[in-house]
Amino acid sequence: MKKSVIINIIAISTFVLGLALIIGSYYLESLFMMLIGIFFILIGILSYIMIKALSLFVMDREFNIEALKKAGLTIVKCNNCFKDNVLEDQYCVHCGERLGNSDEIQEEYKT
Ligand SMILES: [Zn+2]
Repeated sequence: MKKSVIINIIAISTFVLGLALIIGSYYLESLFMMLIGIFFILIGILSYIMIKALSLFVMDREFNIEALKKAGLTIVKCNNCFKDNVLEDQYCVHCGERLGNSDEIQEEYKT
């Protein structure tokens, strides 16, 4: 959560820096400076959208786990990062580690 806040600040400051460059380029009459300013603003907006999309996805995933728990599905903890996973998952959704409990399911698929 803290990591995303830091990236958020970087995205906003990139946007502000781009804005400042465009204002500065107006006074200095520098086209090159204005182009860099636009570039910075675009990067700022893009990274901001990406953070929003990413945080929405993470929230969605956590909410799903809660909903699945309520629905009576078995939730297993990852041996590597100790986060919740649905038993049906073969790999941890958080760190990609193979879930130990999936061995039995694997056997079922083979036969
Ligand atoms: Zn994990």
